[in-house]
Order: sequence, then C-alpha cells, then structure tokens
Amino acid sequence: MVLLEGVFRQQDGKTTVAQDNGSVGTLDSALSTLVGHHVQFAMHHVPTLPFDPTKRGLGSCCVEGKCPLGHDEGNFDLYNVTANGVLHNDPWRIEAFDGSVQPIDLNRMVDHMGRIACASITELEKLRESAAQLTAQIQSFSIGSKTGGE
Ligand SMILES: [Zn+2]
Repeated sequence: MVLLEGVFRQQDGKTTVAQDNGSVGTLDSALSTLVGHHVQFAMHHVPTLPFDPTKRGLGSCCVEGKCPLGHDEGNFDLYNVTANGVLHNDPWRIEAFDGSVQPIDLNRMVDHMGRIACASITELEKLRESAAQLTAQIQSFSIGSKTGGE
C-alpha cells in the first residue's frame, strides 16, 4: 500500500514526496511494487484549510516563478485523479476493466502539496476482513463483559 502526503519534488529524474515527519518517499519505486495489480488509486493536490484564495493553488502550489498549471495566474484548478483498475507504468496509468485509461501525471504534482493513496484490492479486502474480525471481537468482548458484570 502506498500512502504519501507532502510536497512532491523532482530529484534526479525521480518523483519524491517530502513528508511532515521528515521522511522522503520515492514515488516511482513505491508505486512499482503495485504494477500489474488491481488497485484503488487516488492522488490530488492538497490546499491549505480553510481555503485561501490569495494563495497560489489555494495554498497547494509551492512553485517559485511560473507554475505550469497557471496557479500564478489565478487558476485555482487542483489536480485530482481517482481510479479503479490495473496499474501500469511507462507512462503511469490505470487501465479500468471497461477499457478506459486514466493517465497519472506525476509532473502535475511536482512542487505542489499533495497526497497519493494506492492499494491493491486484495490488500483492501484483507484490511476489511481484519477490521470486521476486530469489530466482531470488540462486540463479543463488550457483550461478554456485560453479562459477566451482571
Ligand atoms: Zn501550481
């Protein structure tokens, strides 16, 4: 599972994400572990909250000088991709089962505050299962402790 939030940068041809805790994730290598897998994918610019229209890209834009997305010219469009399908690289994209292709343009994230989440469907199902088991355990525990206390 890939879950990174921070400022996206381009370093030596690699896209990195500098997170608040100081760690830097390399996006391409993190994502490559999921190539060929059926994934749920989400990536978007993260504006500062509350929205501040005096800031470039509502605060998500860290570009010095001209932003390729026009944030320096008052454009407030935030890049946002969500997709469900098989992850491919060269170029990064999600191919859905209806044949549609959703491009993943990492360049649009560079020098912007952003968030990316990508998990394989099997990972998500395992998470869902363990969450359901935990919920069942908590329920039986609270039922058990109630009857035990009476
Ligand atoms: Zn920008």
